[in-house]
Amino acid sequence: MSNLEAYPDEVVSGDVVTAVAPVGTVPPVLPEHQRPVDVAPGATLLEPREVPLGGPRAMLVRRTLPHRDIRTIGAWCFVDHFGPTRGGAAMHVPPHPHIGLQTVTWLLAGDVEHRDSVGSRQLVHPGELNVMTAGEGIAHSEDTVSPVDEDLHGVQLWIALPDADRRQEPHFEHHADLPVLQSEGVTATVFVGELDGARSAAAAYSPLLGTEVRLDDGARAELPLDPDFEHGVLAVAGAPTAAGVRIPVSALVHLERGRRSLVLEGPGRVLLIGGSPFGEDLLMWWNFVARSHDEIVAAREDWEAGRRFGVVDHPSARLPAPVLPTTPLRPRPSIRDRRR
Ligand code: MN
Repeated sequence: MSNLEAYPDEVVSGDVVTAVAPVGTVPPVLPEHQRPVDVAPGATLLEPREVPLGGPRAMLVRRTLPHRDIRTIGAWCFVDHFGPTRGGAAMHVPPHPHIGLQTVTWLLAGDVEHRDSVGSRQLVHPGELNVMTAGEGIAHSEDTVSPVDEDLHGVQLWIALPDADRRQEPHFEHHADLPVLQSEGVTATVFVGELDGARSAAAAYSPLLGTEVRLDDGARAELPLDPDFEHGVLAVAGAPTAAGVRIPVSALVHLERGRRSLVLEGPGRVLLIGGSPFGEDLLMWWNFVARSHDEIVAAREDWEAGRRFGVVDHPSARLPAPVLPTTPLRPRPSIRDRRR
């Protein structure tokens, strides 16, 4: 997925965040972030904002990370929930570059084809994982391949790579056989990290958890948590609750460190993400996760010049990079002190 919102962090004037729509159109001013709401001790509700994904049949996605006040949960630094489309809108994201992150594509319905500049061409289906480690640079495309009248429903997440791992060679993984935990009315699929003894084989470069939990009506699950992790619960369907908090679909509840367990109740489907608080300040611009303005400038110039990122075998023209803002980009800490 390509972040067409060119300045997710950087053009913040008061509470208004200016974002950039598909290149060539006038940047809209998005509604201001909903203020985060403290819904229980150590629990904060983040409402999503709608962002156009672009392409000829633009799809709107609901983005909860980065949030102005809470930018990361562990190393998870980007959360987009899209669909169910109910026909019509489709995902067609032409070749575009990434640095410094992993992309995680998790589908609940429909099929998406991933192609990248290290030669991968892979379909991802619901319940399977595509994870792409960009390292020093990769380009990829993503296209819906299911019939347009079928639902497309899923989540794309980004994971920031720690400084020690962010210059590695790019690579791609597909995992169709993920560990599943089951109890009465509850199915949990672990796609990153480990939950209750079930461990995903996906490569992770910091302590992380990513799980989808499906709960029938009336079902309840008490999941063991790592108290060193902060967590996020994203509702993707139904009317689930986490720690007694009802989560609207596409909203995310951030849970502070220190919890040893979490009670989820159905009916609904959620993504439970978590990790050790990410201690490094990040600079996110367009599809790049970096640490300095100069790194962003260099990555942008390399993409525009056809260097570094390789070539994706794809019929569409590659996405041009947006214009950089005139003021220097600055890295930001994970959590902003809201009381200031
Ligand atoms: Mn992408």
